Amino acid sequence: MVIVMKPGATDQEIAHVVERVEAVGGEAFVSRGVVRTIIGLVGDIESFHGLNLRTFPGVADVRRISDPFKLVSRQHHPERSTVWVGQGDRQVPIGPDTFTFIAGPCAVESAQQTLKAVEMARAAGATIMRGGAFKPRTSPYAFQGLGVEGLEILASVSEATGLPVVTEVVDARDVAVVAEHADMLQVGTRNMANFGLLQAVGQAGRPVLLKRGMTATIEEWLMAAEYIAQRGNLDVVLCERGIRTFEPATRNTLDISAVPVVQATSHLPIIVDPSHAAGRKDLVVPLSRAAIAVGADGLIVDVHPDPETALCDGPQALHGNDLRELAQAVRRLPKAVGRVAAVERVGRG
Ligand code: PEP
Ligand code: MN
Repeated sequence: MVIVMKPGATDQEIAHVVERVEAVGGEAFVSRGVVRTIIGLVGDIESFHGLNLRTFPGVADVRRISDPFKLVSRQHHPERSTVWVGQGDRQVPIGPDTFTFIAGPCAVESAQQTLKAVEMARAAGATIMRGGAFKPRTSPYAFQGLGVEGLEILASVSEATGLPVVTEVVDARDVAVVAEHADMLQVGTRNMANFGLLQAVGQAGRPVLLKRGMTATIEEWLMAAEYIAQRGNLDVVLCERGIRTFEPATRNTLDISAVPVVQATSHLPIIVDPSHAAGRKDLVVPLSRAAIAVGADGLIVDVHPDPETALCDGPQALHGNDLRELAQAVRRLPKAVGRVAAVERVGRG
């Protein structure tokens, strides 16, 4: 942390800063310029925050140098992490060496629809299935998901197909039941800053897929991941799913640069959701290609056996030729950027 003093700050004001920093166990290095004095602080940043240094007489500015997040930062953990999803001998990695394709229906509507969608996903190369049982809908009148019945369908489809399952949890009170039925817990864009939920999933004993808040900066997103990590769970995968901008042509704007920015800043894996970013199926394949090329650790995509009848997000769901085109991209392109497809138990242990 660096304290910039106002031009003309007095010796007494400078000494006051040094004295208070030393009183909380820190060290202060004073550098006097012709116009301004700068004080570099070394020590525990949280105790410096507690000092309210900005309120001190003569202080012009207080600047952080290190990341505000610790556990998820690459500063103290230079190796990029791999997160394993699934139980026993059915575990799929998400990390820097592999490329993991996750697909399934936006929402679980019935056992048959879910099984069909996941079979399509698996045939296209997916090694983890998705599907929402608790749906965070903008309208209270829209389909809210099948709840626990949906979780049971997901668990049985996972059993039948052999794919581990990721599903969203929208309420801290449901974390235990969701963790009982699913291999990975998803926190959606609308709940990225629901700190009670983040703490609850941090204690659930399951890996977490943390989507970026639709208006969150990358730093806010990583601070949300820090909440989960701080509860003892470092198995967090980040998911860029588009942010709100002034552009109405797409539902959200896929922030493709978030992928390398996050990879440079955090050791956590990051995947891309082109379906919720675009909101339209014609863009899912091109955005997927972009995500693979930019170095994403995986993709999560909506598929549906009959998008016309989908109860949620039909316009973005892939099936038929679109899904075949995606399958081809997922089979071919990761190799071009030095990755292998993530199948069960690749290289664990
Ligand atoms: C979803 O993945 O089903 C979902 C609701 O996504 P998001 O939170 O990104 O809108
Ligand atoms: Mn959806």
